[in-house]
Amino acid sequence: TNIIELNNVTKKYSNGTTALRNISVSIEPGEFAYIVGPSGAGKSTFIKILYREISVDKGTANVAGFNLTKIKNKEVPYLRRSIGVVFQDYKLLPKKNVYENVAYAMQVVGRPPREIKKRVMEVLDLVGLKHKVRAFPNELSGGEQQRVAIARSIANAPKVLIADEPTGNLDPENSWGIMELLERINLQGTTVLMATHNSQIVNTLRHRVIAIENGRIVRDQVEGEYGYDD
Ligand code: ADP
Ligand code: ADP
Repeated sequence: TNIIELNNVTKKYSNGTTALRNISVSIEPGEFAYIVGPSGAGKSTFIKILYREISVDKGTANVAGFNLTKIKNKEVPYLRRSIGVVFQDYKLLPKKNVYENVAYAMQVVGRPPREIKKRVMEVLDLVGLKHKVRAFPNELSGGEQQRVAIARSIANAPKVLIADEPTGNLDPENSWGIMELLERINLQGTTVLMATHNSQIVNTLRHRVIAIENGRIVRDQVEGEYGYDD
């Protein structure tokens, strides 16, 4: 099986909304893929399935060697160690400083303190924020907060990085900065999957494009285009 492999996945929420219908997709290690589509199409649902925020109703899903239809709750932390996640609203812990936000992601999966210290400074250096280690999230710009979130997401050296609208709250300059980081992480071998509404980015930094509409994959192109007017 591939690093991400979904076969005939269907997801129906408890209120009766079917968010994904018979989705099948296979992503190879080291790929960079955009997930595009109108609002309400099912992009976030697709992404949440990958990191086991929500479960699959029908079909099979394999991510980074984990069978998501069989995974036990106690195994979920191991899955999360293999997958980094970045969100539109950063989701940093407001009462922890930059260092602690990144370190926490390693602490929760039981990494030894010495390794944590070294790795936290390494990833903060990679995102260009070593000088902000003692700052709190509310003392940082949006672009800086997203850089910290990216540092946190790769702290455990995940095989897969999942980003849900990572540039959604950022101006163009900061958005390109974030893309530069995601590109670099991808070039180092990490599989990157990014849901986005940013047509400029998709049409400029060409990668695989998977389009979802009404819960179905309607397009899957190598070096594709954004394809919508918004
Ligand atoms: P997108 O990310 O493409 O905007 P979503 O995956 O968020 O789409 O939503 C897909 C569909 O599922 C939409 O109709 C949305 O209203 C619905 N939906 C999303 N989350 C929930 C939920 N927790 N409960 C019920 N319906 C939901
Ligand atoms: P919770 O305390 O809600 O169960 P966790 O202990 O799993 O959350 O994670 C604590 C914080 O660290 C959360 O804000 C979560 O988003 C973040 N986090 C944990 N693992 C990762 C990861 N692999 N990538 C990105 N953020 C992560």
